[in-house]
Amino acid sequence: MAYETIELLINGEWRKGDGGGQDIINPADESVIGWCPHASAEELDMALAAADEGFKVWKNMTALARQKIMAKAADLMDERVDYIAECLTREEGKPHGESKIEIGFVSDLTRWYGEEGKRSYGRLIPPRIPGARQMVVKEPIGPVAAFVAWNFPATNVIRKISGALGAGCSIVIKPSEETPATAVCLAKCFQDAGLPPGVINMVFGVPDTVSRHILASPIIKKLSFTGSVPVGKHLQKLAADNMIRCTMELGGHSPVVVFDDADLDKAMDMVAGFKFRNAGQVCISPTRFYIQENVYDKFVDGFTERAKALKIGNGMDDGVFMGPLVADRRLAVMDDFVQDAKAAGAEIVTGGERMGNQGYFYAPTVMKDVPDAAKIMTEEPFGPLAPMQSFKSTDEVLDKANSLPFGLASYVFTTDANKAKTMEHGINAGMVGVNHPMVSMPETPFGGVNESGYGSEGGIEGLEAYQRTKFMTEMGV
Ligand code: NAD
Repeated sequence: MAYETIELLINGEWRKGDGGGQDIINPADESVIGWCPHASAEELDMALAAADEGFKVWKNMTALARQKIMAKAADLMDERVDYIAECLTREEGKPHGESKIEIGFVSDLTRWYGEEGKRSYGRLIPPRIPGARQMVVKEPIGPVAAFVAWNFPATNVIRKISGALGAGCSIVIKPSEETPATAVCLAKCFQDAGLPPGVINMVFGVPDTVSRHILASPIIKKLSFTGSVPVGKHLQKLAADNMIRCTMELGGHSPVVVFDDADLDKAMDMVAGFKFRNAGQVCISPTRFYIQENVYDKFVDGFTERAKALKIGNGMDDGVFMGPLVADRRLAVMDDFVQDAKAAGAEIVTGGERMGNQGYFYAPTVMKDVPDAAKIMTEEPFGPLAPMQSFKSTDEVLDKANSLPFGLASYVFTTDANKAKTMEHGINAGMVGVNHPMVSMPETPFGGVNESGYGSEGGIEGLEAYQRTKFMTEMGV
């Protein structure tokens, strides 16, 4: 079985870790596949010091030189895709084909950020005083701290690393202890591409202990976090003490609005595939289905048919579309949502239970007539659950879409341009997809509003997240 040995990366060297550690579990069969070492407090200090030194080296290289290393790292990710994807599937559960797509995405992202670093232009501002020269430049903000969730073991990590490196920053990153191998493999691609020591430092540990230690350091100038809303709020408070700037990529509860004039078959094909991708453990997964009343039954039936046809199993087996949930704790969460919805009056059309008794598999679940009072209509399920209800008018559904404090992604299906515009402009969300769900690309800004956080990853905004602005004015030189 292919699975990477996990070590800590500090100042360009791999270390076994002095702070204990934990087993890594394959969620498809519950076997122990590895050991994730934890960093001691001393090792965290070493990582911080390394990032401080690494920053001095990396920021003083030209953007062109940085881009060459990043492009080489991206090529290595592509060359090693089969192996890295296998590690990813074994630790997280998603099908191997999906893992390969994820590695392709992060190599693309790394190339894009490297290139975009070369286009980080400043500007000249016409002076008020004759002879003065007024310049605005973007500088790398400094060493970055990043903590990320397990659901995209490559994407979540590389959005941080390549954004920081593209801007000229160094980083101390703590990937998830549940999915560390993918991150280690990707860090090795950068190292083998010639990255100077200390530019990427990778640590693991007890999350709260690590983040408290790292964010207390005056070395860190930026925090980027991908995870849940409560943890995001907690980390933002810690960051406040040192005035550390934050990017917060937090949870969502994405509405899908299907109007009666939509191309229903296309909508069902796209949304069913998207809903159950990565077993629904996707922050932009469609999680609240609002279907216009006269196509409601047809949509529920067609969507259910598609959900039932999905092949569920070990992500390393051929033809599997959906793997297990990441850990056993998620099974109980799914059951709780389902029982609560039932008690509130929802009908479970398919699924609603664990599959088998080995591996953390949960059946693709469709629930209809789910009332607003059911917990699943207000709390992010982060699993393969699709709760549906019908609506009558555009005004009513816009209010429903905007009824929660979250605002990450949202989806609308209609062939009516006016309805599309009303929803696009009216929905409180960081991203809106009309008639297709592709809202995550290297060159476009990805991020939420309100309790889903703030700041973007990807696009020029993603680079700016790791930059600070300096105004310089000079005369007589
Ligand atoms: P979580 O916030 O509990 O954990 C997320 C990650 O943060 C984990 O790796 C965990 O180890 C780490 N973490 C937890 N507490 C920490 C602390 N005190 N200090 C530092 N790191 C800490 O969330 P979860 O339930 O495991 O993950 C799913 C959540 O992440 C969902 O709410 C999902 O929407 C969100 N998410 C958001 C995005 C996005 O881009 N907006 C992407 C993926 C996941």
